[in-house]
Amino acid sequence: MNFELTEEQEAIRDAVAAICARFDDDYWLARDRDGEFPHDFYDALAREGWLGVCTPEAHGGAGLGITEAALVMRTISESGAGMTGASSVHINIFGLNPVAVFGTEEQKARMLRPMAEGREKACFAVTEPNTGLNTTQLKLRAIRQGDKYVVNGQKVWISTAQEADRILLLARTTPLEEVEKPTRGLSLFYTRFDRDRIRVREIEKMGRKAVDSNELFFDEFEIPAEDLIGEEGRGFEYILHGMNPERVLIAAEAVGLGMLAVSRAAKYAKERIVFNRPIGQNQAIQHPLAKCWAELEAAWMMVLAAASQYDRGLPCGAAANAAKYLAGEAGFSACETAVMAHGGFGYAKEYHVERYLREVFIPRIAPISPQLCLSYLAERVLGLPKSY
Ligand SMILES: Cc1cc2nc3c(=O)[nH]c(=O)nc-3n(C[C@H](O)[C@H](O)[C@H](O)COP(=O)(O)OP(=O)(O)OC[C@H]3O[C@@H](n4cnc5c(N)ncnc54)[C@H](O)[C@@H]3O)c2cc1C
Repeated sequence: MNFELTEEQEAIRDAVAAICARFDDDYWLARDRDGEFPHDFYDALAREGWLGVCTPEAHGGAGLGITEAALVMRTISESGAGMTGASSVHINIFGLNPVAVFGTEEQKARMLRPMAEGREKACFAVTEPNTGLNTTQLKLRAIRQGDKYVVNGQKVWISTAQEADRILLLARTTPLEEVEKPTRGLSLFYTRFDRDRIRVREIEKMGRKAVDSNELFFDEFEIPAEDLIGEEGRGFEYILHGMNPERVLIAAEAVGLGMLAVSRAAKYAKERIVFNRPIGQNQAIQHPLAKCWAELEAAWMMVLAAASQYDRGLPCGAAANAAKYLAGEAGFSACETAVMAHGGFGYAKEYHVERYLREVFIPRIAPISPQLCLSYLAERVLGLPKSY
């Protein structure tokens, strides 16, 4: 058993960190204020090929694994870019996995390269206002009419829809009452984002202002039939296939942000003198930070375990859910502890940790809540009755 990164993995981390170092705290604070998408950061990563880290080589990527992608995402988040930086590229890195796995050769050739090279941006639309985490109940309808599908309905929380050229969309093609089981009847599409037919309304939110999240309203939105991924009615299965690695990547982002917060707080605690000594000399400051580091490090080990299982083709549901749960909680705890270690200054934007605290709610809540991660473990690992 070896817990070390390989030389190649270390080189990946260092190369991504070197790009991120060009975007300092002032850059991310400015994006938090003005809400502008970090285009230059996105372009810098695209130029050096990092958006295609796990896209197959035949389609313009590096063909590496989720382990390497997790390293990239942790490094971005930990650099100070936080969830703003991570979310700006997240979908390019892994979002088109269902196309890579279930798409035809023609679709892969057409769809993967522009995303891997950063020439196109996309959004991923699953969540609906009245469905929540119960994905099988999705209602947005896509009805086949000849060689196209016509879509009507609503989605919510869809990130990067203001910027997107494309949309990966999960829609109901057979009404729920007519399917043999609730996981059937949903279909997956990857298609052009037609702003004449999809109205986008931004949701004003707590953090990550520069990466928008939106309500989408579809009105007679047409999708060419050749943009259906895989078979009609099996979209839920295709999405499930990508859920574990997505959880791993989000967990890596949470660990990165948490580690950043802890290192910020430790630095501040060494410099801040109160009662004639650094506040970091007090165990009441030291111990919570040390505990956060230990929790984050443990979560990271679980991220690597889950990523390694996925990359070796092993079942990784338990490890991926455990990693997502542990990293979300540890990341949150670290950011909160970092604010408290800064005292009043933790509440000031110029010390950055309040921004991390606002952003770390994202990997805690999405794409699946801590409660549902625990429900998965209770049911699938402990064999307890399904509770939902
Ligand atoms: C910033 C941000 C960006 C996002 N980006 C995207 C995106 O790009 N695309 C996309 O499709 N979605 C996106 N989402 C949506 C996100 O995936 C959902 O918010 C998340 O899946 C939770 O769904 P919900 O908000 O409807 O919660 P609900 O399902 O309404 O749940 C609310 C609460 O109830 C709890 N709960 C519900 N049922 C149970 C149960 N049976 N047992 C125990 N607890 C339960 C949940 O754990 C949660 O705490 C984003 C969300 C945020 C906040």
